Amino acid sequence: MIRKFIRKLLGQAELPASNRGAKQASHKKPPVSVPARIHQIDSALISRHALRVTSTLQQEGYNAFIVGGAVRDLLLGVAPKDFDVATDATPEQVQKLFRRARLIGRRFQIVHVPFGQEIIEVSTFRASLSASAAATRAPLPAGQSARARRGELDHRLHAIDASGRVLRDNLWGQQHEDAARRDFTINAMYYDPATQTVLDYHHGMADIRARLLRMIGDPVTRYREDPVRMLRVVRFAAKLGFEIEEATGKPISSLAELLGNVPSARLFDETLKLLLCGQALDCLRQLRATGLHDDLLPMLDTAFEHPQSEKFITLALSNTDERIRAGKYVSASFLFAALLWHEVREHWQKYKAANEYPIPALHRAMDETLYAQMKKLAIQRRHLGDMKEIWGLQPRLEKRGNSAFKLLEHPRFRAAYDFLLLRCESGELDPALAQWWTAFIAADSAQREALLTESGPESSPRRRRRRGRAKPKESQDAGKSTLNPVEKLS
Ligand code: ATP
Ligand code: MG
Repeated sequence: MIRKFIRKLLGQAELPASNRGAKQASHKKPPVSVPARIHQIDSALISRHALRVTSTLQQEGYNAFIVGGAVRDLLLGVAPKDFDVATDATPEQVQKLFRRARLIGRRFQIVHVPFGQEIIEVSTFRASLSASAAATRAPLPAGQSARARRGELDHRLHAIDASGRVLRDNLWGQQHEDAARRDFTINAMYYDPATQTVLDYHHGMADIRARLLRMIGDPVTRYREDPVRMLRVVRFAAKLGFEIEEATGKPISSLAELLGNVPSARLFDETLKLLLCGQALDCLRQLRATGLHDDLLPMLDTAFEHPQSEKFITLALSNTDERIRAGKYVSASFLFAALLWHEVREHWQKYKAANEYPIPALHRAMDETLYAQMKKLAIQRRHLGDMKEIWGLQPRLEKRGNSAFKLLEHPRFRAAYDFLLLRCESGELDPALAQWWTAFIAADSAQREALLTESGPESSPRRRRRRGRAKPKESQDAGKSTLNPVEKLS
């Protein structure tokens, strides 16, 4: 309280030096203040941890709001998946108020305040780009050490590359500047839990009502500053079922190649968000329609040329979407394994046709596919291992051999089995194979032995050796799959 009073008395004088330049260079635009009676946000949907963060900051005399996607979702009556807080406190000031708070990021410095599993992301109001240019030109304070001056310069800079991409963005500013730096009008609203007021700087309320995705400012410039915004358009349009405003949608195809400048680890994060938004299928269609997929998953085009591969990917993504909407776990490794399977298969066939042994051929095919993929989008290492296991288990699952018992215990068995089901459902493999495994999983040990016996001569090495001599009755029946094991067990 005392601090708040002092701050009021001093105006913004205690802001870092770099902020003062930002303040002079910008013109304040008052927001529309929307009361609870109009916005009707259900406060039960708000995370108590986010409330704790805003109230702690406010008690210390800072301004603090819930911001961005959380406000958008609250206005749509949806429980936000995460909460962001925006404040005029600097990251260091925020960090001091929360024991577990961590400073994160170089490019966009923010503070993570963890509460158990939930992390509240706190960001300091960003200055406008033009304000930062003015601040950069302003003289450095006299009497500082060379190190402090270097730090100050570094702090001031919005480094921008040749294509217009903002490389660093740690210049603090005013709330209205922060609003203008956000991507879409519907993502630029601030909610103050203390007064239950929404501050709307860019007609976000109107666009929420019209269900319209509109970029703040000139879309081409905004995409150049951060090409990832093009992926965000696709994601939000699909996830929220919003229309894309014309000027926002139009430049995307012609700017798609700018994604090539984005670090591949960031592309991975954004692609994952897209695939896990619950509307992956729609997103993928939109990515292909705009050419945005070229720098993410370049092999998709070849996959979609083959009806069976297209069916496989479509099934994988629609299953994922269903699971997400039902609140079930989805594995990123499984998804990427599915998206790249066509490519792996193509290489695999090529090597087998050149007389390589099937298993080494498969491993070579996996490596070749991943090598090409990683140049575009860096799939995290921990997923790569899982993907290889899912692929690598496929030939073993196709065998239905004695190793079936061992396979059941493999940590990646479930994912590999789900993968096999998709291959069967898309027409790549005989559906009897999927039925057999489904039955095998559900069976007790005696029934499993019976299933192995019925499954034919390819199952065990012992039987395979016999095949060369005299053809036993069971081998003649192999592949016919008269059994319907699921029925048998029910
Ligand atoms: P989600 O529901 O996926 O969390 P979100 O809009 O909250 O959606 P976040 O990535 O959590 O997305 O970002 C929080 C807010 O930060 C956004 O609502 C937006 O205001 C701002 N923001 C995020 N990324 C960008 C960007 N690339 N350019 C401009 N503003 C951004
Ligand atoms: Mg968010």
